[in-house]
Amino acid sequence: MKKVKVAVLGATGMIGQRFIQMLEGHPYFEMEGLYASERSDGKKLADVLKVRDHDYVPETLEMTMETMDISEVAKRARVAFVGLPSDLAGPTETQLAESGVAVFTNAGAHRMDPDVPILIPEINPGHLEMVKAQKSYGNGGFIVANANCSTTGAALPLAAIEKAFGLNEVYISTYQALSGAGYPGVPSLDAVGNVVPYIGGEEEKVETELAKILGNAGPDGFEYAKFGVFANCARVPVIDGHMEALVIKTGKKATVDAVVDALEKFAGPPQELGLPSAPEAPIVVRREQNRPQPALDSFAGGTGRSRGMSVSVGRVREKDGRIKLFLLSHNTLRGGSGGSVLNAELALRRKYL
Ligand code: NAP
Repeated sequence: MKKVKVAVLGATGMIGQRFIQMLEGHPYFEMEGLYASERSDGKKLADVLKVRDHDYVPETLEMTMETMDISEVAKRARVAFVGLPSDLAGPTETQLAESGVAVFTNAGAHRMDPDVPILIPEINPGHLEMVKAQKSYGNGGFIVANANCSTTGAALPLAAIEKAFGLNEVYISTYQALSGAGYPGVPSLDAVGNVVPYIGGEEEKVETELAKILGNAGPDGFEYAKFGVFANCARVPVIDGHMEALVIKTGKKATVDAVVDALEKFAGPPQELGLPSAPEAPIVVRREQNRPQPALDSFAGGTGRSRGMSVSVGRVREKDGRIKLFLLSHNTLRGGSGGSVLNAELALRRKYL
């Protein structure tokens, strides 16, 4: 198979460097350029390295950053993976799509656009179809978003539970890692030995994005799911991995065993097609009383590209007709770059690229 040429935008950032990790030696994609601001122009990846748990191959460490230039990206790449700040990402992604580039973004700017899918391939692969309604689609360009990092973690188990029992309401409390704020992120004196009970815009994102992801997409656009979502979001001094505590009111009565069964059986096109970044199981259920934990379970999923691509769920309990559980997902892998790369793999296999 001839590899598709791709660019990474925001390649010096937390998300950008996870993109590079996911794209090293990728069977479908070949990195054609790494782009950041002019501050980083000419620097090698080795000089700006922020990811400490992955051994990049020597040739990747030698790759150099270029100042982002939209026409240059469009000339050289069929696909752009975006890890830019949202205010810059919005207009950049529109111009790239208009220039015929397929954009797979982590930024929030276009997530709630009426023709942009928030894609999680195990949950709503059919939403990819919506890119055909985008004005740029005629010349090959389109935008696919992935969800906010804490939304992704909750969406996978909620989709499994929704499919089996229906959903009425969900209460979500998050314990979010520092890497979720980018680099350098939260000042150390605010973070160490502390919990910050505010992440700007996060609760609103979780509440609105879940309804779009778990809703339907059709000729009349997106129809949002109707269950209630109530989120409280906090930043905790953990490096990687967002924990979340959920209380879920299901439509039909659900027992603990039936919920665990639904979570463990949940899978979709990434597993059926054997996509390169797909974890064997999108949801891993832990039976121990004290799991999942960020220090032990953030990288659940497998080896290589699927490392960090599973959501871990634990402490599934039932009380007064409600299900309680904890979950953990890697915010820059499954909840970030890994999610975008999985989206692009599905798009390629479904002949959008
Ligand atoms: P980050 O670490 O702050 O990285 C930002 C990147 O944008 C850097 O490469 C930076 O390059 C580049 N950039 C900034 N200004 C630029 C300009 N004028 N021209 C070109 N490049 C520019 O942020 P991040 O955490 O990777 O997040 C990136 C995006 O992903 C954000 O929209 C964020 O909300 C979203 N996201 C993050 C997470 C997460 O867990 N971190 C998860 C999901 C989604 P320089 O180094 O040259 O300044």
